[in-house]
Amino acid sequence: MTEQPFPLAGVIGQPVAHSRSPALHGFWLKRAGIRGYYIPMEVSQADLEQAIRTLPKLGFVGVNVTIPHKERALALADVVTDRAALIGAANTLIFRRDGKIHADNTDGYGFMENLRLGAPSWRPEAGPAAVLGAGGAARAVLASLLDAGVGEIRLSNRTRARAEALRAEFGSRVRVFDWVQAGNMLEGVKLLANATSLGMTGKPELRVPLDALEQDAVVTDLVYTPLDTPLLQKARKIGCTTIDGLGMLIHQAVPAFERWFGARPEVDGETRKVLLNA
Ligand code: NAP
Repeated sequence: MTEQPFPLAGVIGQPVAHSRSPALHGFWLKRAGIRGYYIPMEVSQADLEQAIRTLPKLGFVGVNVTIPHKERALALADVVTDRAALIGAANTLIFRRDGKIHADNTDGYGFMENLRLGAPSWRPEAGPAAVLGAGGAARAVLASLLDAGVGEIRLSNRTRARAEALRAEFGSRVRVFDWVQAGNMLEGVKLLANATSLGMTGKPELRVPLDALEQDAVVTDLVYTPLDTPLLQKARKIGCTTIDGLGMLIHQAVPAFERWFGARPEVDGETRKVLLNA
């Protein structure tokens, strides 16, 4: 591997223009006084393997991986963390000095940190959690909630078969509910997480009725455009503690930045402001 005078990292995906990661890492690099760069790179599926094998030779210390490359990146890695294997996808690659590609997934970590800081009194053993969605983000949420010790996770997804597949994989602590009955699963839950893309700018609204939700529940939305989603607004009216998705986005980036650049970035109001303006 060529020694470079300044470390390079970036994000590979297709599309990648929407990513806020360059603004985030760029801000942290500047604040830490590190002469490094974080670059968005549009890479097609056909070019993925070649890109991953070439980047270390160009001085890259690692990359984030986004849609649609997360599963393939995991398969191409030489070393895989337990949490990435459990989630079945990689969002962070570290190019090691010995030439090996190390794959991690920090989405679950970001989700839990955001939850821990946004609702300090929430406890995994407090009661059932409900998760909407069965895509990549939902996998990370399920894996991290189960790992934290949540005893029961009620899961609902438009395509029921995808939720059933997650139950088969993650075990009997996951209970699947039909999408048209998702509102019924909210009775008695202490946590509700939206891991669908519903409610996102340009997507349909999330129409799951919240009548059964009690005010001691914590509600978090992974969607962060808009920041204050209709789900969070409705949950606040009930009296629930709400947590927006921007914190997850920021926290998932912390372990990657630390591994690549050797300094742990601080997550603070200034960091949020940079992302909100990105
Ligand atoms: P994904 O793998 O494409 O999954 C999308 C999910 O949304 C699936 O469960 C899908 O259900 C559901 N969905 C989409 N359109 C729907 C509709 N019209 N009606 C009902 N359900 C619908 O995406 P992902 O990577 O999991 O991401 C999901 C969301 O989380 C996105 O908004 C993403 O931006 C956000 N996210 C945020 C963070 C963060 O750091 N805050 C991190 C990761 C993801 P089907 O299975 O039926 O298609």
